[in-house]
Amino acid sequence: RNGQIPDYNIVLLGQIGVGKSALTVKYITRRFIMEYDPNIEDTYTKHEDLDGTEISVHIMDTCDKETSDQNRYLRWADAFIIVYSITNSGSFEKARGYLQDVKTHAKDVPVALVGNKIDLERYRQISKEEGSALSTEFDCLFYETTAAEEFEYVEDVFHGVLHEIQKERSQL
Ligand code: GDP
Ligand code: MG
Repeated sequence: RNGQIPDYNIVLLGQIGVGKSALTVKYITRRFIMEYDPNIEDTYTKHEDLDGTEISVHIMDTCDKETSDQNRYLRWADAFIIVYSITNSGSFEKARGYLQDVKTHAKDVPVALVGNKIDLERYRQISKEEGSALSTEFDCLFYETTAAEEFEYVEDVFHGVLHEIQKERSQL
């Protein structure tokens, strides 16, 4: 690779308030930060060791506007993380819409479906089985997570997705 560090581009999609920014920042900094401006879209970079290879991970934390520039994500992304909150069934339906879009327009791009906020179990509206069934329907990875302080689920999601990208690239 000419000594260059390979780029792995991940786009987060999901309804506003499901925790896209919290998950991104937790992965980047290992901290849970309570409040992010929901209208800010930003890209974050982190260097990772993927099975002994140094890689550069870029994460686009989108905000859920009705964007007609959706193609922009589609071209850039090596993978998508589609997030819903287990406490919000509307966000689950929204996730289904994103899955349909992504699977239509970016067929071979790896996708992970993520049910976030499992620390709020008592407010759960979407069962783990429903999440899992949706991921089976769309043939994608599935995780339940929380970005909350004391938990360590988030890295698994990102590492799972990075491995899927790696697998996809090795088949080219
Ligand atoms: P975004 O609009 O998808 O980027 O959502 P944010 O990351 O801004 O999160 C929206 C709100 O949910 C904020 O108040 C966060 O602190 C909170 N939040 C995000 N993730 C979690 C989580 O896993 N558990 C709990 N309890 N709150 C969360
Ligand atoms: Mg946000």
